[in-house]
Amino acid sequence: MTSPSPITSGAQYIESLRGRDLRVFFMGERVKEPVDHPVIRPSINAVARTYDLANEDPELATAHSSLIGRRVNRFLHVTESVDDVVMQNRMQRRLGQLTGTCFQRCVGMDAFNALFSVTFDLDARHGTPYHQRLKAFLALCQEQNAVVGGAMTDPKGDRSKGPGAQDDPGLFTRVVERRRDGVVIRGAKAHQTGCVNSHWIVVMPTMRLREADREYAIVAAIPVTDPGLTFIYGRQSCDTRAMEGGDVDQGNATYSGQEALIVIDDVFVPWEHVFMDGEVEFAAPLVDAFTTYHRRSYVCKTGVGDVLIGAAASIAEMNGVSRASHVRDKLVEMAHLNETIYGAGIAASHESKKTRAGNFINDDVLANVCKHNVTRFPFELARLAQDLAGGLVATLPSAKDFASEVTGPVLKRLLRGRSPGDALARARMLRLIENMTMGRNAVGYLTESLHGAGSPQAQRIQIERAMRLEEKKGFAKTLAGVNE
Ligand SMILES: Cc1cc2nc3c(=O)[nH]c(=O)nc-3n(C[C@H](O)[C@H](O)[C@H](O)COP(=O)(O)OP(=O)(O)OC[C@H]3O[C@@H](n4cnc5c(N)ncnc54)[C@H](O)[C@@H]3O)c2cc1C
Ligand code: SF4
Repeated sequence: MTSPSPITSGAQYIESLRGRDLRVFFMGERVKEPVDHPVIRPSINAVARTYDLANEDPELATAHSSLIGRRVNRFLHVTESVDDVVMQNRMQRRLGQLTGTCFQRCVGMDAFNALFSVTFDLDARHGTPYHQRLKAFLALCQEQNAVVGGAMTDPKGDRSKGPGAQDDPGLFTRVVERRRDGVVIRGAKAHQTGCVNSHWIVVMPTMRLREADREYAIVAAIPVTDPGLTFIYGRQSCDTRAMEGGDVDQGNATYSGQEALIVIDDVFVPWEHVFMDGEVEFAAPLVDAFTTYHRRSYVCKTGVGDVLIGAAASIAEMNGVSRASHVRDKLVEMAHLNETIYGAGIAASHESKKTRAGNFINDDVLANVCKHNVTRFPFELARLAQDLAGGLVATLPSAKDFASEVTGPVLKRLLRGRSPGDALARARMLRLIENMTMGRNAVGYLTESLHGAGSPQAQRIQIERAMRLEEKKGFAKTLAGVNE
């Protein structure tokens, strides 16, 4: 991070990203200044909103940190109570409502909380100094009010093989050299949310590791400005509409999510920023703790769902069908699905328990149920929103046609809904639904819901592990009078 002074607003955050000379590539070209790039800027605005919310509603978006003895942004807070875990979910839903997209800061928040307990347990077993180092790093991030990306997913190559068994060892991130003062790491991390918008990234192993994978058991914090990092920006559907000028066709011109592939080319990390090095048996507990937090963080999608339900209700109103019983029923169905996701997530948080390290972690099974619902329900919400929108959501002419002297008057007359003169308002609402269900923010609302924090099968495996089938069979056998 270039500036040591703490960031206290969204505007200051945006300034903190300027002039960093990051190696960012988009569509085959190096991006000079990501802050001013029209495709990238909406994703920066979404993160900036997390800073502004902290000022507007400190109760919701900040918390008292006993690490540095003052209030900090909740995204940097290590949970000190059940209520802290619950408040994370409430803040995530609110930010989803405000941005209609992924606001990118939760991966770092969940990584910190997972690492807090795992480094404590690791030190207890091995006498290592990771927990104190992590606390010092956390205090630094809290002082600076930094954005920290959580980098877990490796490119992975042949999915049937572990890191050490790949033809190309570079498909997973690993240590290539140990020096007196630190380690050198090499590899890559895929689909990294908000990484270009971060100040730090924390790399972590992505799966259970074996003894032969020792070099891959690395957890380390790297400043995003390290010259050994290259960011290859992910395309999002309809992303170049942001380069056309105007805000109508973008649907949500202010906010978007961000993912990039990070190439890690021999980055030196001093020991003070290394939080695991070679302790392969702690890779699985770290992945488990991280996904336990992160899978209930997906209540973020219920805030986005609130926006989509609002858009569906608005377009039905504009179309003059809001009182039709099937329309009201479809909106009820959307709300039901949305609250079902939230119900499991917030219940997981309410069921939080204290870890040996002293922070609080939510319930594992309920978090997996929350995330598993997220892999399905937003798709049904999107289908219902498109149903209520009508075919125009996919056949609407461009804003330039609305502005044209020739076609504009025709479109305004023919594409009106219930009220004369509402054609452009209707177009805006349709573009928002398009944006969320098949445009830029469908990345965050749909595909991220499917794969982020693990693809659906990963949750089913966890649910199967935790479903205590023998106990359940015991209940049944007792009542049925079956004695074996
Ligand atoms: C929008 C978005 C944002 C993301 N943000 C982040 C982030 O900030 N940080 C981060 O670390 N990660 C992030 N991820 C990565 C996410 O965690 C992964 O996409 C997810 O874990 C799935 O990995 P994959 O994409 O490599 O798919 P794959 O693992 O290739 O999965 C594809 C399919 O193959 C199946 N499969 C995979 N391996 C096996 C196997 N061994 N045996 C049988 N079936 C298998 C899966 O179940 C799935 O059905 C993000 C992903 C997305 C889409
Ligand atoms: S997908 Fe949701 S939980 Fe993950 S970073 Fe984005 S907003 Fe946060």
